[in-house]
Amino acid sequence: MRPDVLNPLFAEVQTLEGVGPKLMKPLEKLGLTRVCDVAYHLPDRFVTRRAVENLDQASVGEQVVVPLTVVEHRSSRTGRGPYNVLAQDALGNVCSLTYFGKASYTARKQLPVGERRWVAGRLDQYGQLLQIVHPDHVAEESSGLLATLNEPVYALSEGLTQPKVAGLAAQALARLPELPEWIEPGHYERAKWPRWSDALRLGHKGDHPAARDRLAYDELLANSLALMLVRADNRRRRGQPLQGDGGLRQRLSLPFPLTGAQRRSIGEIEGDLAQSTPMLRLLQGDVGAGKTVVALEAMLIAVEAGAQAALLAPTEILARQHFETLRTMLAPTGVEIALLTGRDKGRGREAILMGLHDGSIQIVVGTHAIFQDTVAYRNLGLVVIDEQHRFGVSQRLTLANKGRVTPHTLAMTATPIPRTLTLAQYGEMDVSRLDEMPPGRQAIDTVVISTERTGEIVERLAGQLDAGAQAYWVCPMVRELENEDIAAAEARYLALKERFGDQVVLVHGQLRPEEKDAAMERFARGEAKLLVATTVIEVGVDVPNATLMVIEQAERFGLAQLHQLRGRVGRGSKKSVCVLLRGEALSETGKERLALMRETQDGFRLAEEDLRLRGGGELLGTRQSGDSPFRIADLEQIQRLLPIAHDDARLLMERDGGLDSDRGRAARILLYLFERDWGVQLLRGG
Ligand code: ADP
Ligand code: MG
Repeated sequence: MRPDVLNPLFAEVQTLEGVGPKLMKPLEKLGLTRVCDVAYHLPDRFVTRRAVENLDQASVGEQVVVPLTVVEHRSSRTGRGPYNVLAQDALGNVCSLTYFGKASYTARKQLPVGERRWVAGRLDQYGQLLQIVHPDHVAEESSGLLATLNEPVYALSEGLTQPKVAGLAAQALARLPELPEWIEPGHYERAKWPRWSDALRLGHKGDHPAARDRLAYDELLANSLALMLVRADNRRRRGQPLQGDGGLRQRLSLPFPLTGAQRRSIGEIEGDLAQSTPMLRLLQGDVGAGKTVVALEAMLIAVEAGAQAALLAPTEILARQHFETLRTMLAPTGVEIALLTGRDKGRGREAILMGLHDGSIQIVVGTHAIFQDTVAYRNLGLVVIDEQHRFGVSQRLTLANKGRVTPHTLAMTATPIPRTLTLAQYGEMDVSRLDEMPPGRQAIDTVVISTERTGEIVERLAGQLDAGAQAYWVCPMVRELENEDIAAAEARYLALKERFGDQVVLVHGQLRPEEKDAAMERFARGEAKLLVATTVIEVGVDVPNATLMVIEQAERFGLAQLHQLRGRVGRGSKKSVCVLLRGEALSETGKERLALMRETQDGFRLAEEDLRLRGGGELLGTRQSGDSPFRIADLEQIQRLLPIAHDDARLLMERDGGLDSDRGRAARILLYLFERDWGVQLLRGG
């Protein structure tokens, strides 16, 4: 149960004044559903504006407050493009106030033709025309704006404005309770950090690195502590030592020798399985590194020892693919394997449930359906979780609770993340790394080409498709303007469809899961030849026939993401190509990223470089690809503060493993605050 002192923070966001049904959706889009979410919705940055009398006094790129007289409203005919309000300064300079989407309604109200208004925002240039995109403020009087020349800038979603969010934040801050200090006193004093509630207030007010650090540290500490609680809990659990005699593994006739990394990982797993403490191990290996065979060997050890094994896949398609692969490989062993997904109904399902119950099915592959309450195992000894990053720690724990004795867990992930992030994400697990690719892999040719040459690429694509190949076409996704991204992907889809007809399918985040699955499946079965997508392409989907990957505006992606995307091709025997289309204005970092992509295919190296190239404050890429479990701490803070938080958590656990001291109780509050309360629950159960 959550401590009462936190109740005001976990109250729903509707309890804030001025939040009605209309604001619910935009707030939800930002993940702001409770008061604490609003309190932690820290400004992205702070602007300092300059008041000018006319546009001649301002320079492009500058934040200004300027009086303008509205001349004309122009909406695009199709309704898709931007809504432009042309306005003039006292010297006759014209500036367009540009709005996208529903924001145009506000523009219509706020900017009547012929009236003078004070406009605050960033002056940009679009072609010859000066413009301000989505002005931060429009006011009849100058006084209010001149009082807020220094102002926080919050991430917004459609339907929200800066003042609105600032108002809600102020209300949330007024409700902050006083909480006991959970940070180790020595450290807290040395770092000269503010108290928790002060840190939040300062964080909204201005650029206060100490406040930001403290808040990030809290989050990191909560995470480390929770993972350590999981680990401690796991050590107390009774597992089943599994020792195979090698009989089944011998009969497995693999068409290739294992790589050194595979053998090492299998050895590590074998060692864990033989213990009575349940295994908690992560197998980290790039796409194509050969995790499946490692999983198979692990499952066979379990079966040799008389237990059952289950492989959990995040999607139906992946489950099916695994099943087919494993069934073929298992054929010479005589091991019974079954596939169980949410789609299985009636008799077929009954038969599988029976087989799992009486133990005649030794290995089951499936989606989360394999862990429903109705599924009873005779003796589940090992759970393998593929694409681990799709499942949170708490889900992992639910699985571990199946059965009298805790099964061993092998989690697998294809996302090569830097060591620091591995610690943050999987700190409760031991790690095996597949850092060696099977031999004979064809390198993927990576080329960087200017967007202007898109036409040529389409022709090249046509040639490939005619020759029977399949291809991916990825459109970028930027957080602020999701709708526009989807519009861009749709536009690209339509254009390609015009050229290639029904062979093209589209996948993006706003499709219903069934639609998405259907499109993916058509592509996986080879009925569709070209898959146009935003970045949501299923991780792990294996279409060996796909040999071309086109990524639009590649400079917008992080290295790790580009690497993941590129990994969709080069899986068959044929030569694969990855085309990175780049926009005109490349930053130095952008250039370096693309150059690295050409240079190496080593996922672990790219992951470390990715971290190096991204400055602090940029977490977007990782967040999208699900690598970072953090909302507050950015990458720079994770690198700098996580090791300290980790040590702090360990010390606390050593001194007060039950979290019963004053500081321990404060730490419990921290765990609830960051919703790592599954950690506390383990404490109680233990
Ligand atoms: P991932 O790590 O992405 O799950 P897979 O297990 O699907 O990779 O393996 C990718 C491909 O590599 C498969 O076709 C598999 O049969 C093959 N493979 C795995 N191990 C080896 C090896 N040691 N030598 C050659 N090919 C291998
Ligand atoms: Mg795999």
